[in-house]
Amino acid sequence: TVENIWAANGSNEVMQQLLQLFGGPDKTLVAFDPTYSMYEDYCRNTFTKYLSVSRNEDFSIDQKVMDSALALNPDLIVITSPNNPTGNLMNREDIYKILDTFKTGFIVIDEAYIDFSEEPSFIQELYKFPQLIVLQTLSKAYGLASLRLGMAFANPTIIKLLNKIKPPYNIGGATQRLVQKALSDSHFVTKSVKQLKVNKQQLIADLKHINGVTTIFHSDANFILVKFIRAQELFDYLILKKIIARNRSNVELCNDSIRITIGLESENKELIQQIKIFYTKNDV
Ligand SMILES: *Cc1c(COP(=O)(O)O)cnc(C)c1O
Repeated sequence: TVENIWAANGSNEVMQQLLQLFGGPDKTLVAFDPTYSMYEDYCRNTFTKYLSVSRNEDFSIDQKVMDSALALNPDLIVITSPNNPTGNLMNREDIYKILDTFKTGFIVIDEAYIDFSEEPSFIQELYKFPQLIVLQTLSKAYGLASLRLGMAFANPTIIKLLNKIKPPYNIGGATQRLVQKALSDSHFVTKSVKQLKVNKQQLIADLKHINGVTTIFHSDANFILVKFIRAQELFDYLILKKIIARNRSNVELCNDSIRITIGLESENKELIQQIKIFYTKNDV
């Protein structure tokens, strides 16, 4: 219902507002690294203690990982599913387990990439779990990052609290009109996501034929994380060719990995061609 819905300037702003409300010097937030780095930034800004729990090598969060998170007795737990930069979903049954057991703080599920996955959103579970907060955004599948529209879905008590701390009229009228327009054309999103999946499979197939590629991680998002030989050099080379990927090779568990956002067919072809050229110039 309307009482469950919150809008802000990007889900980044929602995250900041949640920490303004529920964070603070004596509060702690757990996130599962590697993950989206902004959670740590907002913790720092609100003097909230950021507790990093490492994922398994395959980026999964199993019962053991979750138990070590719960042992920290956090005030907030953030689950990013599908996760950034790794692209994997968290197992749905495991999310239910944590929703059933963790009642002493809030569970934020960041679903920025949910439209690209086959999994349903956790929005439909809100009425069962008053401690659940689901984040979504128009920045990814809708392709409207510059519009700055993010959403939280939560129980009405949480929404009322958010309403108390927001600046007046924080979402401009122009944005509101454009958002309404975007939401009225769900066909556009369905079509784009379908096309993106085709392009993703093609890109993965092409990468498999390249010798310098060592691992392509499974992704339920609009990007893939790929392990390369000489990742840093490849990344620098691609920049020279005006192809901007995201170098994650210095991130824990992501060594030698580059995150590649799925582009148009022509862009993906150009990327493959440049990677091939790089490896003919540099031995693997
Ligand atoms: C991109 C992204 C967001 C979206 O940020 P906006 O502020 O809505 O543009 C949120 N969470 C994750 C994990 C992301 O990768």
